[in-house]
Amino acid sequence: MNDYYKFVNTPLPYGLGALEPYIEQKTMEVHHDKLLQAYVEKLNDTLKDLPWLQKLSLEELIIQADTLPMSVRTSIRHFAGGVYNHRLYFDGMAPGRSSAPSGRLGEALNRTYGSFGGFKNEFKEAAMSVFGSGYAWLVTGKNGELRIFVTANQDTPLTRTARPVLTIDVWEHAYFLQYLNRRGDYIDAWFHVIDWARAEKNYLAAAGSE
Ligand code: MN
Repeated sequence: MNDYYKFVNTPLPYGLGALEPYIEQKTMEVHHDKLLQAYVEKLNDTLKDLPWLQKLSLEELIIQADTLPMSVRTSIRHFAGGVYNHRLYFDGMAPGRSSAPSGRLGEALNRTYGSFGGFKNEFKEAAMSVFGSGYAWLVTGKNGELRIFVTANQDTPLTRTARPVLTIDVWEHAYFLQYLNRRGDYIDAWFHVIDWARAEKNYLAAAGSE
């Protein structure tokens, strides 16, 4: 795992073109290889002269950001959040996966949202509602319940006593090359490449940590 300084840009668990036609290779190249790479470098740069912060994991940096000195707080929030959010997003996708979750997450989604379609509608609505740049999330709350919410910029739900199950990046850089301003089309396409096995793992891990 690469949870500690010095951070590296972990390779995608699939090829850059593997999510086509839903997400094109050109978008993935810019997003993963250039944009996330820059976040990793800026995070390392922020930490390079701060050995006491180098001992903290990526999650600890995010959770403790508000207690850090003002001089680094904003950088940590942007860059540690950016690395964490992008990893969840990229690792949460895979080519050729089933179009709906099964197992305990599938049951929990049905219970919470009435049906898988009900979940999709609510999640899409949330992702459409992000004003400017941010993410939509499926998380487990502090009692293990499923919740949908959105964050701005590179904020993460980790700071809100929640554990993420699934996330979609709705910054324009995630879709503009392919979908222009049609965010809804991008969200519909993203539903085809969700790695539900990974989401299930995240869900069970979160449930176990309560
Ligand atoms: Mn992004």
